[in-house]
Amino acid sequence: MKQKTKIAVIGVGHLGKHHVEHLSNIKNVTLAGVYDIDRARAEGISKTFKIDCFNSIQDLLKNVDAVSIVTPTKNHKDVAELCIKAGKHVFIEKPITETVEEADTLIGLSKEHNTIIQVGHIERLNPALLPLEGYELNPKFVEVQRLAPYMIRGSDIPVVLDLMIHDIDLILTLIPSPVKHIESTGVSIMTNSVDIANARITFENGATANLTSSRVAKDRVRKLKIFQEDLYITVDFLIGLTEIYRAMDADQNDPNAIMTAPLESNGKHRQIFYEKPKIAKTDALKMELINFVKSIKGEESPVVDGPAGRNALKIAIEIQNKILEDFKK
Ligand code: NAD
Repeated sequence: MKQKTKIAVIGVGHLGKHHVEHLSNIKNVTLAGVYDIDRARAEGISKTFKIDCFNSIQDLLKNVDAVSIVTPTKNHKDVAELCIKAGKHVFIEKPITETVEEADTLIGLSKEHNTIIQVGHIERLNPALLPLEGYELNPKFVEVQRLAPYMIRGSDIPVVLDLMIHDIDLILTLIPSPVKHIESTGVSIMTNSVDIANARITFENGATANLTSSRVAKDRVRKLKIFQEDLYITVDFLIGLTEIYRAMDADQNDPNAIMTAPLESNGKHRQIFYEKPKIAKTDALKMELINFVKSIKGEESPVVDGPAGRNALKIAIEIQNKILEDFKK
C-alpha cells in the first residue's frame, strides 16, 4: 500500500478553509491538522474536520511531510522559510511572496533542502484552459480581462498583485519569450491603492499582451482571447466556455466549416472551422492540490513551481511600479 502524504494547512481564513476541505478529500493524503494565529478560528476548523489544532508552526512541522501556506502574502516568506528549512514541501498561495528577493531566497532554500515549492496560480488549472494543451499555440496578440465587483477583502493589496498576477502568470506561459517592454496605467477609485490597471506587455518574439484588471466593476468578467495566424481562441473562465475558430484551406462544401471567407486577391476561399471542446467539471483548487501531492511522490511536476511564481511576481511589481511613477507626476 502506498504511504499517505501528511499535510497540514497554515492560515485557515477565507481560502485556507477550502484547502482544508479539499485536502480532507484527496486520496493518499492524511490531513494532519491546522495552525492559525487566530486560535479560535483554527479550533473551529479543527473541530469541523476532526483534525489536530497545533499550538505553533514548530509543533505542526514535527507531524507533516508538507504544508499549504494560506496566510496573508506579507507572511509567506517567513512561514515558508521555517517549513522549507525543516525539509517540508510547500504549497504557497499566490503571490509567492511580497518581493522578488524573498521569492529568490525561498527558491534557493528549496534547492538546498530538496523540497518542492508550488504556487497557487489557480487559473492554470481552470478546466476551460486545459483544452488548449491540444493546440499548437504561437500567440501574436493576447487580450485578458479580469473584472470583479468591489469587496473590502483583498482591497489592501494593489489590483495588479491581487488579480492581474493570475493573468501575468498565464501570459508568461502562453508566450514563452523574454519580456521586452512594459507600459501600464492605473486608477484609484475606491481605495488609496490602484483599483483598475491596464498593462501592455511586448515580448522579444514580437507578441503583445494587453491585460486589464479591475475590482470596481458591476459584473465579474474573466476572459482571455488569443490571436495567432489562422487561429482565434476565446476562453471564458467564469462560465467554463472555450471556443476555437480556425481558418483553413478546405473544400467549400466541407460540412464542418461554419463559414467561407473569400480571399479576393487570389480568388481562393478559406473555410472557418469552429470547435467547442467539452470542458470537464473539475475544481481548479482541488486539481492544484492533487498536482502538489503527486509532485511530492515524484509522479508529476508542479504546474506552477517557485520560479514561475517568482517570474509572475517580478512582472507584476514592474507593472505596479510604473503605475506608481505616473501617480507621482
Ligand atoms: P484571510 O485573511 O481570509 O486568511 C488568512 C489567515 O491567515 C487568517 O485566518 C489569519 O489569522 C491567518 N494568519 C495570519 N498570519 C498568520 C501566521 N503568521 N501564521 C498562521 N496564520 C496566520 O486571507 P485569504 O483571503 O484566505 O488569503 C490568504 C492568501 O491566499 C493570500 O496570500 C492571498 O493572496 C491568497 N489568495 C489566493 C487566491 C487565489 O485565487 N489563488 C484567492 C484568494 C486569496
